[in-house]
Amino acid sequence: MAETSIEWTDATWNPVAGCTVLTAGCTNCYAMRMAARLEAMGLDKYAGLTRKSGGRAKWTGKIRVDYGALETPLTWKKARRVFVNSMSDLFHPEVPVEFIAAVWKTMAATPHHTYQILTKRPQRMASVLSSDSFTVLPNVWLGTSVEDGRVLHRLDELRDVPAAIRFVSFEPLIGSVAGSDLRGIHWAIVGGESGPQARPMDPHWIDEIYDLCTDADAAFFFKQWGGKNKKASGRTYRGRLWNNLPELRI
Ligand code: SF4
Repeated sequence: MAETSIEWTDATWNPVAGCTVLTAGCTNCYAMRMAARLEAMGLDKYAGLTRKSGGRAKWTGKIRVDYGALETPLTWKKARRVFVNSMSDLFHPEVPVEFIAAVWKTMAATPHHTYQILTKRPQRMASVLSSDSFTVLPNVWLGTSVEDGRVLHRLDELRDVPAAIRFVSFEPLIGSVAGSDLRGIHWAIVGGESGPQARPMDPHWIDEIYDLCTDADAAFFFKQWGGKNKKASGRTYRGRLWNNLPELRI
């Protein structure tokens, strides 16, 4: 199991590697930088997924599905929250529906784990999962990322996804999302961008999300302030930690 320091999960599982940049939230994509590092360490799975441009790693657009990885969660005895595809986007257009179905089969066979799938392509998520070949699994949470007010339509698309739990990750929060409609969304994660190129997060934007969560009865999770030194900036908001999780509503 790949242990992780991501505050809202216990482990990562990457049956797919590689992606393409979509919107402003992708600009400093952590997976893109990490894929370059993993390739440099000799991991074949990440070979050719990125190239160097202007001193930075950029996705080449190559997507690699890893059939061997489908077995991995079957070997984990202890129940875990599992972030699926921290190194890609399961609903990228180049990921075949048959492969997504194979991921579903693994998740259905391991109901003791809770899977968290985050996409920037909720329209495809809704379209694929609305097919009769897919069932709603109570141990699978489905979410989308919203980084600023320009991509609020993703929340409407997420509402069309058949799911036990729907969630939104407002990370990296780089603009106000005050117009968000959180009806039918059970959980919101908020986080500022971290790393050398981190863009600042205005505390007022967090207050807006906090109020939206209160009104929509969505669980509020504050992940981090971010910045160049995310350890130093911490994850305290209004004087405390916010680690709320959604309740199963199926
Ligand atoms: S969708 Fe996610 S993995 Fe893909 S480029 Fe954007 S941030 Fe990176």
